[in-house]
Amino acid sequence: MNEILRIENISKIYKDSAILFRKKDNLALDNVSFAIKRGEIFGLVGESGSGKTTLSNIILRLIKETSGKIYFEDKDITKLTKEELFAYRKKLQVVFQNPYQALNPKKTIGFSIREILKIHKVGTEEENKEKIRQILEEIEMEEDVLGYYPPNLSGGQKQRIAIACALIIEPEFLIIDEGVSALDVSIQAQILNLIKKLQETHNFTCLFISHDLNVIAYLCDRIGVLYNGKLVDLFETKDIVSPDRNEYTKTLFKSIKI
Ligand code: ADP
Ligand code: MG
Repeated sequence: MNEILRIENISKIYKDSAILFRKKDNLALDNVSFAIKRGEIFGLVGESGSGKTTLSNIILRLIKETSGKIYFEDKDITKLTKEELFAYRKKLQVVFQNPYQALNPKKTIGFSIREILKIHKVGTEEENKEKIRQILEEIEMEEDVLGYYPPNLSGGQKQRIAIACALIIEPEFLIIDEGVSALDVSIQAQILNLIKKLQETHNFTCLFISHDLNVIAYLCDRIGVLYNGKLVDLFETKDIVSPDRNEYTKTLFKSIKI
């Protein structure tokens, strides 16, 4: 399996001005390096504040790193032109914990999905109708949902739609940041199984981010552990109980329920 994404010595310092009462720069990521292989589900785990979303936002180019490089398909994405950035964003999609970041609560689900296809200029109207029909089938939702507004959906349904919105343009790489954390445990399991199934049919690579090692271990092929902005461990899920594990990973593992 070849690499699709390589993170090299990424550091991020937030300047003090963003945080009230804290007069110190915040080193959110400290020289983080690892690579994600094409077609795998890579889990990034760490407690709240460990830097997971910062790293995700840097990969998505929503914020800039302080230093380091990121290669996507061997191209340094820290130095993209506007046109290259647009092409890159089409290959990469994200599902957040709060689906309102993807879905406008005042627009119908159908409007939002069609809008995504329009922005990315994919397919004719007929082709897109068929694409939407197919993705709804895959996320196991009826077509009448297209006429609904996001506030009318349950948490689990919103996350299914958010996943459909991300996958409708067939990205190569999907980032899911705490995508099941707000859901009840039984709904979490349904969404995790759905992600597994979709990954097998669509073959995208996935960076799955969670504070919950339980969830990560269930879904992911390999796991990276972030602690205070440092990558302290990296292993295949099958080696999660190995004595080689970092002490911090072991403390996370103690609370695991599988
Ligand atoms: P996680 O997603 O693992 O909970 P984050 O990446 O959100 O962690 O945060 C990592 C650290 O960076 C935290 O200390 C957080 O307070 C800080 N941080 C995150 N976003 C900002 C910001 N926009 N400005 C200043 N500090 C931030
Ligand atoms: Mg976060």
